[in-house]
Amino acid sequence: MTVMNAYAAAHAGAELTPFCIERRDPGPHDVVIDIQYCGICHTDIHMARGDFPGQVFPLVPGHEIVGKVSKVGAAVSKHRVGDVVGVGCIIDSCGACVECRAGEEQFCDGRIVTYGRYEKDGVTTAYGGYSTSITVFEDFVLSIDAALDPASAAPLMCAGITTYSALRHWKAGNGSTVGVVGLGGLGHLGVKLAAAMGSDVTVLSTSESKRPDAIRLGANDFVVTRDADALSRHAGRFDLILNTVSAGIDLDAYVRLLARDGTLVMLGVPDRPLPVNVMQLLQRRKAIAASPIGGIRETQEMLDFCARKSLGADIEVIPIELVNDAYERVLNSDVRYRFVIDIGSMR
Ligand code: NAP
Ligand code: ZN
Repeated sequence: MTVMNAYAAAHAGAELTPFCIERRDPGPHDVVIDIQYCGICHTDIHMARGDFPGQVFPLVPGHEIVGKVSKVGAAVSKHRVGDVVGVGCIIDSCGACVECRAGEEQFCDGRIVTYGRYEKDGVTTAYGGYSTSITVFEDFVLSIDAALDPASAAPLMCAGITTYSALRHWKAGNGSTVGVVGLGGLGHLGVKLAAAMGSDVTVLSTSESKRPDAIRLGANDFVVTRDADALSRHAGRFDLILNTVSAGIDLDAYVRLLARDGTLVMLGVPDRPLPVNVMQLLQRRKAIAASPIGGIRETQEMLDFCARKSLGADIEVIPIELVNDAYERVLNSDVRYRFVIDIGSMR
């Protein structure tokens, strides 16, 4: 066991404070990673505040992890000491079910999430990336190309793969018209990725002040969603809408914007069930869907795509001491466009 520095919420709703954790010594197939950067995902805030049931406290958040391999188990073949690697939202799965065999580990009932629950042994609390090191089974460690800046690559591990997976599944690309609702961590990467795939992208935002950034990030158009008339002028326009808002939205208002066979994909997690007018879906065979992160193979594909396109997140790097302030700013939609913790500030 190795003892190390971390930051934790002692109970649901508590501020994050310094906390010591233990990590296991590497087994034959384990990779030990010295964490350099960890992104702050809005999900970290939901988890630390107890918005989702079943979390284990003290809770060390962080599932947008990038660092350097410092040690490998004797049987590790995929990674070497010194490699720059990433870890996202899952650190293991059963490896045998139909989902795992399809490379869709995110759907495995036995998947192990990076923090907030237990590790595969069922008793050790899984602690996330707001810590100086992590020990992970080699198959769930991703390779980060040297072309990517490690700090701006960190948010790719959750926000990047979540938007990439949905864009790929619903076939974004040349000739498709994509709307992105909410220009935050997920939203800004959704815009960059959809534009890099060749889609015609429009940002749908509550914040008029983000208009110039939306265009710089690759959008062709920007609509202020607080203006109902402006929104309704785009009725029937989009093949795909990614909703990244971290609160409930008026589903009907966005379904109205879909073209025939268009899909509204929920990536943000509303805190309550949302009503929907089925008649509106039926009239042009529209769909509402939801999508989580991607599997390991697709995550590597996304990282390689980003390396080829020189695509990373727009980030504000902070020392760990500012993490609670950063949470408040994320809750106020005041982040351009992802906070990333410099884990060097914890050593
Ligand atoms: P974020 O950085 O806070 O971005 C959310 C954006 O939504 C804000 O910047 C804001 O954009 C807009 N927004 C926020 N509150 C709003 C409100 N009340 N009404 C309308 N718009 C609002 O969050 P994030 O990290 O991108 O995460 C977004 C959501 O996705 C969270 O719920 C998170 O838990 C979830 N998530 C899901 C997955 C998945 O697997 N599906 C993965 C990661 C995160 P504007 O200023 O442009 O309006
Ligand atoms: Zn996340």
